Amino acid sequence: MGLESMFTSSYINRLGAALKSKLRQWGLPRFAQVSLLNISENATFLAHDSETDRRLILRVHRPDYHTREEILSELAWIEALRQSNVIHTPAPVPTKSGETLITMHDGKSQRYVVAFEFMQGEEPNVGEHLADWFNKLGAITAQLHAHSKKWQRPPEFIRKTWNTDTMIGPQGYWGDWRSATNLDALGEAIISKAAHVIESRLSIYGQGAERYGLVHADLRLANLLVDENRMGIIDFDDCGFCWFAYDFAAAISFHELDPSIELLQKQWLAGYRSVASFSAEEEAEIPTFILLRRILLTAWLSTHSETDTGQELGPSYTAGTVELAEIYLERFGDKTITKEAGSDLTGDKSCPILDLNAFSFEQSKVDDQALKPMIQRRYKTQGPTAMLFYHQPLHIVKGEGVWLFDKKGNKYLDVYNNVPSLGHCHPNVVAAITSQVTQLNVHSRYLHETVHVYAEKLLATMPNNINRLVMTCTGSESNDLALRLARTKTQKMGVIVSESAYHGNTQMVTEVSPASYKTQQPPDYVISVAVTEAARQGDNAGSYFLQQVSAAIKTLDDRGYGCAALLVDSIFSSDGIYSHPKGFLSKAVKCVRDSGGLFIADEVQPGFARTGDSMWGFGRHNIRPDIVTLGKPMGNGYPVSGVATSEDLLATLCDEYGYFNTFGGSTVAAAAALAVFDTIVEENLMQHARDVGAYFKHALIELQRQHLSIAQVRGAGLYIGLEISEEGDIARPDAAKTTQLLNLLRRDHVLIGAGGKFGNVLKVRPPLCFSKSNADLFVHKLDKVL
Ligand code: PMP
Repeated sequence: MGLESMFTSSYINRLGAALKSKLRQWGLPRFAQVSLLNISENATFLAHDSETDRRLILRVHRPDYHTREEILSELAWIEALRQSNVIHTPAPVPTKSGETLITMHDGKSQRYVVAFEFMQGEEPNVGEHLADWFNKLGAITAQLHAHSKKWQRPPEFIRKTWNTDTMIGPQGYWGDWRSATNLDALGEAIISKAAHVIESRLSIYGQGAERYGLVHADLRLANLLVDENRMGIIDFDDCGFCWFAYDFAAAISFHELDPSIELLQKQWLAGYRSVASFSAEEEAEIPTFILLRRILLTAWLSTHSETDTGQELGPSYTAGTVELAEIYLERFGDKTITKEAGSDLTGDKSCPILDLNAFSFEQSKVDDQALKPMIQRRYKTQGPTAMLFYHQPLHIVKGEGVWLFDKKGNKYLDVYNNVPSLGHCHPNVVAAITSQVTQLNVHSRYLHETVHVYAEKLLATMPNNINRLVMTCTGSESNDLALRLARTKTQKMGVIVSESAYHGNTQMVTEVSPASYKTQQPPDYVISVAVTEAARQGDNAGSYFLQQVSAAIKTLDDRGYGCAALLVDSIFSSDGIYSHPKGFLSKAVKCVRDSGGLFIADEVQPGFARTGDSMWGFGRHNIRPDIVTLGKPMGNGYPVSGVATSEDLLATLCDEYGYFNTFGGSTVAAAAALAVFDTIVEENLMQHARDVGAYFKHALIELQRQHLSIAQVRGAGLYIGLEISEEGDIARPDAAKTTQLLNLLRRDHVLIGAGGKFGNVLKVRPPLCFSKSNADLFVHKLDKVL
């Protein structure tokens, strides 16, 4: 049966008659009145038994759309919401034999029917109070999202997935917008261009659990049921998996061009944020969701011109869609499309470090077809933590020195990796690991010569107070232990870190890693200080940093936590690489010590000679840590890390707790670490990093003269940051261009990453064997793509 004929009165009468024959299943008499309430997709009827005054809402589903399982899943969510007591929504009413869904034949096809209790109330009569109602709508939407995020869905739960394919693709659930009434070739081209921008932006925006999940997907004022003392939500028929922020676009459905949207959005967001967080990145994408919804509705209207809405809006709706697409393109169209494009990055819209440069599984447009199944398998087995780099992910199979090779034998210059710090597959490390693994590879509780030799050599490079080494397996674990040491010693809780710091992935370390937070903030015993702003003060960076640290200590004291430690990576890798002036941390470190706190130097990034000036980042700044944490480059790729500290600090912890680490400093780990350490010395890599680094930095500064978008070149040794900004204006960070550059470089077989609070710093951090000619090659390639 064609859709159009579903809207004729004779058809509706037939449906009503068919329903009457089913009423007894719900204990209603056959003669109860059945009247149509609404028809758009489904037909919704009110059944009323005037003798008992019992009422029931009966929803007849449209044919060939939702499956039985999908409808039962919707009802399951409704039940869960009702039980949570947060949201009022009418209960599904089972038949006498306990069925919540029955089938009914309407003369032509099978239809699913579900019944709901009748709930008093009406669509809100907004009058002059539209903005207030949007505030309420925002708050109730946030409650619904909060429930959806924590609800354990039953295993058989299945609902439709709303994404760009299913919404605005040619096979979209609601039809193809290209068939919209009154759409001419120019209009089609404009919408098509905008649709590409939407796809591109949303593929980068991603479908992380905080941004994408089970939503109502039609949460408009028309779907609120209000009476004097209660506000309920109805019509979960569209509920499915979609972006949370899309629910705002649903809220303003059919009014997308209304000038009051700005105010309504403000109110909706205020309401939402009174209940739950709604990130700046989500807010920045609202125009994308509005246009996405508009195009979807345009597709829907093309097949529903006979509905009330279709009649009301008429063919001019299509013209409006074209207009909205044009407005959207003006704003977002000519920029390279990245997650950050369009957002005001000069505000507080920092980007989570782990999202930078990430490939999105869900929305992938992978050129190399051979990689697709592999990517799928990775996604299916490892889920969203299995992050891949670049818009076109790489399948690397071999490494040698500064080169990486993919499956097809393509060769890439590695300007990214500091883990294989001596160079990929350095023969000394390969030999040490191989020799040890063929003899003994066991846990750490037997005597083993190498680990002692290693500890002695390593500790000899540290200040005198640092005389104990605990071997661990990852940088995160090292920082976790460092925090325990500091808190046990000081009996204080507070920690001061830099504003976009990343220190690892355990629960405790995530709390001191502001860069890991996507929607929330670190707890209030963690205070972050603005190193970017400090570094911009030039020679006064030290005083500025000091001011912030001393204010943070006071706040932590006022809050009753006290300051246990200042924890910093002294090259400020994830903040955007702030290396100068040398020594700018010393005043702040002294201030923390004077207050009874400790200084933890996270050497995972600057350590092991990379900065060229010292074996350690803290050495460059001439400061003495109480605890040093080590990782990444320590084993040239073999997982080995450590915590170096004083005898006294370690004893304090071990008096209270036992500490044991199965793999930390095991035989093979120790062999790898020793080989790395010896090779740094033998190959004089510190000097090499200083010389090549200086040459490289100079060449990049020369390049900066030719390209306005490089606002700054910073760094020490082989750790260099290029700040990419609009027209060289440091106040206008250009994350879009940064993402574009690193993807273009990848296409040109040069691998590099990005960092920084705003995601606009190209991170130049190659293996230490990088040569001057490698530097020339990089500068040449960067010049080409700039
Ligand atoms: N500290 C810093 C400064 C880091 O950059 C990292 C990793 N990027 C870590 C700690 C955590 O190290 P891992 O990933 O080995 O746990």
